[in-house]
Amino acid sequence: MTFTTAPWELHRASATTVLSQIDPSATPGWDAGKNAAREFMAERGALLSELQERLYAQGRAGGQDSVLLVVQGMDTAGKGGICRHVLGMVDPQGVALRSFGVPTPEEKRHHYLWRIRKALPEPGRIGVFDRSHYEDVLVVRVDELVPPTVWDKRYEEINRFEEKVTESGTTIVKVMLHLSKQEQGLRLMERLDRSDKHWKFNPNDVDSRQKWEAYQEAYQDVVQLTSTDVAPWYVVPADHKWYARLVVTELLVRALVNKGLTWPTPQWHVDVQRRRLLETMAPDTAGQAAENGPTAVAKTARHTSEVADMVRDFVNDYERVNPAPVTAGQGSETLGAKGEGGPPEDTKKSKKKKGKKKDKKKNKKKSE
Ligand code: ADP
Repeated sequence: MTFTTAPWELHRASATTVLSQIDPSATPGWDAGKNAAREFMAERGALLSELQERLYAQGRAGGQDSVLLVVQGMDTAGKGGICRHVLGMVDPQGVALRSFGVPTPEEKRHHYLWRIRKALPEPGRIGVFDRSHYEDVLVVRVDELVPPTVWDKRYEEINRFEEKVTESGTTIVKVMLHLSKQEQGLRLMERLDRSDKHWKFNPNDVDSRQKWEAYQEAYQDVVQLTSTDVAPWYVVPADHKWYARLVVTELLVRALVNKGLTWPTPQWHVDVQRRRLLETMAPDTAGQAAENGPTAVAKTARHTSEVADMVRDFVNDYERVNPAPVTAGQGSETLGAKGEGGPPEDTKKSKKKKGKKKDKKKNKKKSE
């Protein structure tokens, strides 16, 4: 149960991407169906959560890394669902979600990137943009809120902006949820049919729908002109919500795995602090703490190796289907220091583990 082709290979947009040739109802690379996708996503969620904690810890210790997930798509494409179901798998403290609506009077007085800059994730965070600066070349273009001479220059400007953001340590993952017009019609109608969903309906959604083709053209330009090496777009088929969520989960896990995250080294000495703490304890509490010590150490070792296994499984899953899917040092016990590329260091161990995993699966089958 895994992807047959890496989602980042399947969905990465380029200057030649043609949206009308991408089937929004397809589920490429995943043959196992919806229920298996849910199960798989929960497993990956555990890894995502672990990696996010390391990113957060690094941020607290002065590290500069962060991740920014940009989610765009027509109304009802599932932007909110991505935030709830994918980012919902990690500690909310580490996530900074921002939605961008019609600019406020204050925002209107500034450059369109002003509000975006202010919302960029702090180091250690996973930032999520539900809509983004891309609205300034989407709705703004379709509704002719500024003349073409103005929006036309923005693609280049956005590319330069994102390059700078990336240089400062933020990995940008841009997802366009690619929905079919039919599916949008059904989703909007459901919002009308269900009184408990009326709050989600906005009459403007029908106005935007009436401009579907103009929006598709605007999206087409976005993905062709702003899918760069540093900040590529992924055009993710979104008629099946479970598929889109699964793909975004994998994209995020990959972004974090590629960072080769480790726990930060403390700026103090463990032994010194242990001595200081002991001096504040009653003798029987100190004795109790000494007894607890080995259990805590063993628990840490177990946990560290479980997480390293999960990372290795992730790397192995894609090594099998694609020889060079992820970079640098992700397979090592410590989750790897940042390397210069190449395969995970402990390939031998990885193979061993893979064998073990297969055996586990075999045994499971036997017992079924
Ligand atoms: P959503 O539809 O995402 O649930 P809202 O109902 O708040 O959220 O709608 C946000 C609206 O704000 C969308 O119609 C979007 O096109 C609009 N919007 C976002 N950014 C801009 C912008 N820069 N200029 C004009 N309109 C914008």
